[in-house]
Amino acid sequence: MYRGLNITQLRDKIDNEGISPEEIFESTNKLAHQLQDEYNSFVTIIDKFKMKTTNKTLLSGICYGLKDNISTSNILTTSSSNILKDYIPVYDATVYKKLKNAGAVLVGKTVLDELAMGGTGTTAHTGIVRNPWDKNRMIGGSSAGSASAVALGIVPFAIGSDTGDSIRKPASFGGVVGFKPTYGRISRYGLFAFASSLDHIGTLTRNVHDAAAVVDIIKGLDPNDMTTLKDDNKNYVSSLENDIKGKKLFYIKEICDKKLYQDSNDEVMLKILDEFHKMLDKLRNQGFIIEEVSIDKQLLEALYPTYMSISCAEATSNNANLTGIQFGPRNDGSSYQEIMMKDRTLGFSELIKRRFILGSFILQKENQEKLFLNACRIRRLIVDKINELFKDYDGMILPASGSIAPKFDDSSEKLSEKYLILENHLVIGNFGGFPSITLPFTMIENMPVGINLTGRVKEDDLVLNMANYIEKVTGLSDIYSKVGDSNEV
Ligand code: GLN
Repeated sequence: MYRGLNITQLRDKIDNEGISPEEIFESTNKLAHQLQDEYNSFVTIIDKFKMKTTNKTLLSGICYGLKDNISTSNILTTSSSNILKDYIPVYDATVYKKLKNAGAVLVGKTVLDELAMGGTGTTAHTGIVRNPWDKNRMIGGSSAGSASAVALGIVPFAIGSDTGDSIRKPASFGGVVGFKPTYGRISRYGLFAFASSLDHIGTLTRNVHDAAAVVDIIKGLDPNDMTTLKDDNKNYVSSLENDIKGKKLFYIKEICDKKLYQDSNDEVMLKILDEFHKMLDKLRNQGFIIEEVSIDKQLLEALYPTYMSISCAEATSNNANLTGIQFGPRNDGSSYQEIMMKDRTLGFSELIKRRFILGSFILQKENQEKLFLNACRIRRLIVDKINELFKDYDGMILPASGSIAPKFDDSSEKLSEKYLILENHLVIGNFGGFPSITLPFTMIENMPVGINLTGRVKEDDLVLNMANYIEKVTGLSDIYSKVGDSNEV
């Protein structure tokens, strides 16, 4: 009954139609259970209505999902890993506390790729997450359950985390809006660290307005996270309608010039690029100035290896506390080394172990200078280049992906040109801590595709404002997959 409604529509039900938040919660909970077997959005579905009723906000009584790598006291928080499969935290993450204080109602903890590493939604200890638009396809990850819960119309918003693209890629594959604000805008206190210098918390919603509405509530300085920014004291919703005439955007030739892919027979990618350029023309007609810029291809090809070097190194160090001794199921052994060895061998999947090996290698004393510090230097070169462009331009616009959501049996073409750059440029947003948003802009083969807009650090309001305009031009606001409609409650 309340399926697919956005925050504004649900607000209206509660404020003007006399529907109680509890009634909406009951119906949402039922829908979450009904769609769980097919899509697997949740690790835990909350069955008891709980809402704080002090000061009323835009989110009072609004249901949402929270990624399962975000700490919730007394609620299982697994990070979708066997090593934490029975872990119940004793403290609340700041983002959760803020949502609770705003009266938002938690419906479930959402599935992620184990420990937020990976981008397929297939590595959680509780099973794969399916794409609402086509069950044979991935939703992408790592914020897989958050994206699918929103794309299925179960909740109007969900919280995710993004270290390389984990909010913005599944947003593209799932036809929803994924927003990662400036680094430090939202406190990471209580987010299980993956790569601290790249980790961000952000939102998945069905329109840009709702992204602004949620971030307005969860942003702000936090004494528990020394990397948080001073409050900007801005209300992002109120700047959504500012005039964008004359705002200047650039796109990168080396990523989206069709001529680069002349020999490719990847029809979907070519179609995406076509649609992208058509969209740019429409945006120009609405008053945006959009220009092509060129960036050294070598620098762009370094994005993925640089990301892997830095993120695996940081991940190895951050996750060194997962020994099975303090948290998670503990195995038998005659010494603590033996216990730890067993716990970590059994507790992590392939992908995680591979990344920890890579990370340990990169952090070894004799490799640090060449591998880790050089990666940090390349990161700096890339960020400097983008910041230089941001002196002239208000934002960077690119297709969020060169593909629609992959099928589960798709073999990846990891070394292709497209894989190196077109599929990995979203990490630029993490390297620089830039605010970055993906929103649906076209449908190809009945699957949604996202466009990505990245702006200057601290200009979250402008990014949302411009994205709001783009959304009007795409006409693809508030889409959600109605599959499973037969189960409608
Ligand atoms: N897909 C990227 C990875 O594999 C990004 C993950 C993320 O942003 N958490 O690490």
